[in-house]
Amino acid sequence: MPTDFSILGHKLASRCGILELMDDLGQAMTTDPTMRMLGGGNPAHIPAVQAIWRERMAAMLADGGAYDRMLANYDAPRGNPHFLNALAEFLQAECGWAVKPENLAVTPGGQTALFMLFNLLGGPSPSGQMKRILLPLVPEYIGYENQGTSADFFIACRPIIERLPGNVFKYHVDFEAVAQALKQGVAALCISRPTNPSGNVLSDAEVQRLSDMANEHGVPFIIDGAYGLPFPGAIFSNAQPLWNENIVLTLSLSKLGLPGTRTGIVVATPEIAAAIAAMTAVIGLANTNIGQQLALPLLQNRSLGALSREVIRPFYEQRSQLAQTVLHEAFGRAHVPYAVHRSEGAFFLWLWLPGLPIATRELYRRLKARKVLVVPGEYFFYGLGEGGEAWEHQRQCLRLTFSQAPEIVREGIEIIADEVAKL
Ligand code: PLP
Repeated sequence: MPTDFSILGHKLASRCGILELMDDLGQAMTTDPTMRMLGGGNPAHIPAVQAIWRERMAAMLADGGAYDRMLANYDAPRGNPHFLNALAEFLQAECGWAVKPENLAVTPGGQTALFMLFNLLGGPSPSGQMKRILLPLVPEYIGYENQGTSADFFIACRPIIERLPGNVFKYHVDFEAVAQALKQGVAALCISRPTNPSGNVLSDAEVQRLSDMANEHGVPFIIDGAYGLPFPGAIFSNAQPLWNENIVLTLSLSKLGLPGTRTGIVVATPEIAAAIAAMTAVIGLANTNIGQQLALPLLQNRSLGALSREVIRPFYEQRSQLAQTVLHEAFGRAHVPYAVHRSEGAFFLWLWLPGLPIATRELYRRLKARKVLVVPGEYFFYGLGEGGEAWEHQRQCLRLTFSQAPEIVREGIEIIADEVAKL
């Protein structure tokens, strides 16, 4: 007999997009080496970066005391004090922000940071009003969708789509739509920058304007910097990092090549950072401390900034260019209408197939049968409310990661173009 789950239990335990994506990713990365993994957001194994983490681990092992303390002690829920100090100083020096350890909290990954923030701020308020999280631009990260613990948690705005020469397009924030949505009483605004899935990077002007609008309405503005600034720096445009007391910035060590350490960071007001530390204590007592210890000296000697700028950014930018070349060649040969979002950051190409006669979930299934994993675009469009369904663009996009080996990416894209041409 099936167990009676609560409403929240059903919501969190349902078979959803992020579960399918992470299951597929986990299988492909462990037990199915024949799968061409253009699916999840796994970071690339960059040899120069891996060497650093290996060296750090060896140094910790050699210093038995440090290694033993790392494994045998719980950290305080907010994070390791040495890590918090070093991070605050790093953010002051790299970005010029007046950040102190009180402005920081470590979490078990950026994903958990966002779960905590959304539910700290959004949902039914003490006054009884339902306050939702406003996504100023969808498509937006698949991993947020099921994180709200009450129904109808997100409200989202469609973007303005600019068509560019050479089968390229770009999303821009529709500020009119954002202004209308803000009238409905929201808890916070949230963007990922760079955006997963599109590889869009909202311009400094767009981010500043959203920050001003959030300020005017007295609500926080969450910027998810999982791929962004100041680390890992997978941004190929001229964007600057932005933080102020009304911005809640989330960062992660994952895309620095450390997803296995599950280390996220919240940069916020002391009030919000303390609330996140309290939530960590309730949910998990403390954080994993391995990532914090691995990264500590790179924060202290500031080399994490240079690593991001000089190694990580050029690596992904080159991978992106390679994937774009392959994509334009393959789809050019296939003679199907297509466009790709301008690649400004993160690990993905966002492909738009305006004439696609089948759902992208069906295309995903057919491609999986041909040993190519992608992520169907439908998952990234949510919170659009009544009338959202009518927007056909949401059924015409696919997300492909270019972080895996170039030959895998080439083969995968060629198979996708071949499959689409047959439809
Ligand atoms: N935010 C975005 C936009 C992501 O793509 C991801 C992971 O892919 C995360 C947050 C969470 O990453 P992690 O929990 O590994 O820090």
